[in-house]
Order: sequence, then C-alpha cells, then structure tokens
Amino acid sequence: MTFVITHGCCNDSSCVPVCPVQCIRPRPGDPEFTTTEQLYIDPATCIDCGACMEECPVDAIHPEWELPEHLSDYLEINEAYFEGSPVEESRPPDPSRRRLPVGRSKLAVAVVGSGPAGCYAAAELSAGRMKWIDTSWP
Ligand code: SF4
Ligand code: SF4
Repeated sequence: MTFVITHGCCNDSSCVPVCPVQCIRPRPGDPEFTTTEQLYIDPATCIDCGACMEECPVDAIHPEWELPEHLSDYLEINEAYFEGSPVEESRPPDPSRRRLPVGRSKLAVAVVGSGPAGCYAAAELSAGRMKWIDTSWP
C-alpha cells in the first residue's frame, strides 16, 4: 500500500521534509523540481505513515485505499514517475547538511508569484519554520 499525490498538488514541497523514508520526488534542488507538474510518491518505498498527508495544504495526498474513483489514475501516474529512477539509487539529502551557504549569516529569499505555493512559502518563512536545504547535495 502507498499514499498517492493527485492533481491538486501545488508543488510547495511541504510534504518532502516530513517523509521518513524520503520517497517523494522531485525535491527542491532536484533538476526537475522547477518544471514538474506535481510531486510523486514512490509506492515501492512508502511506508504508509501518513505524515505527508497531514502536511499537504491542498489535500492532494490520499491513501491508496481511499483514493476517490475520479483520481484512481494517479496511482499509476505516481508509480510511473519512478520507472527507471528508483528511490534507492537517489540517496536522500543528509539533514545534517542543511545549512546556510558558506560565508552567509543570513538568507535572502524572494518569493515569486502570488499563487498558493508563494503564499505558503511566505507564511512558512515569516514563521521561521522553513529550513535552508543545501543545494550542493549531488
Ligand atoms: S505516507 Fe509516509 S512514507 Fe509514504 S510518502 Fe507519505 S510521508 Fe512518505
Ligand atoms: S504538500 Fe501537497 S501540494 Fe505540497 S508538494 Fe506535497 S503533495 Fe504537493
């Protein structure tokens, strides 16, 4: 069993850091992240913990066993994303490497756009909850 990301996903990546097995892709810093239509869950790695569903601001994540009929295609869509690039071959970022770039004591951030992703990013930043992810991770 797995959880499934569906068409409502707004790519704000709130679900990525809470996944204990790092099976949600693409992640911020991944080459495809800026162009992907949505994020995807690897069904072969997901452990059904539900943490991502709790974080999703737009209720785009569903357990496989409660997937509405009109969203049933997304089970296959999520699975297909990982064909040829299984999670096991793409190690997750080491949390200990989350830090500001060398030589910077502050992080300046511009939130571009006014859609849901921009609003949530601004809210998280102003609340001090958003962490810098080291983009030098290969
Ligand atoms: S249900 Fe848990 S293991 Fe599965 S994708 Fe969500 S956070 Fe990751
Ligand atoms: S938390 Fe929801 S909207 Fe945000 S990236 Fe994950 S699935 Fe998409």
